Amino acid sequence: MATGNCNNHPPSVFFPSDGVGVEAAKKICASCPVKDPCLEHALNMRIDHGVWGGASERQRRRILKSRRVAARAARAAAESHAETPVEIRL
Ligand code: SF4
Repeated sequence: MATGNCNNHPPSVFFPSDGVGVEAAKKICASCPVKDPCLEHALNMRIDHGVWGGASERQRRRILKSRRVAARAARAAAESHAETPVEIRL
């Protein structure tokens, strides 16, 4: 990303091989002005590797899973609401 904090660091920083490296990358992302769109981009593109938008690969997988669960629950709630019989009083 053109205006991201990562412009001042080598790309390898954001593709760490251990937890210490992940935390170092997340620290750089923490103050990044484009953190939120960066994270959404990584989620939308299903980017599997590296730290994006301050989130590790594992965190992004969790976010995607929780969004799927929430979407499923919302669909189920909408369907059950649509099936609720309407009482008509004459
Ligand atoms: S949030 Fe995205 S654009 Fe910003 S430093 Fe992190 S990886 Fe780079």
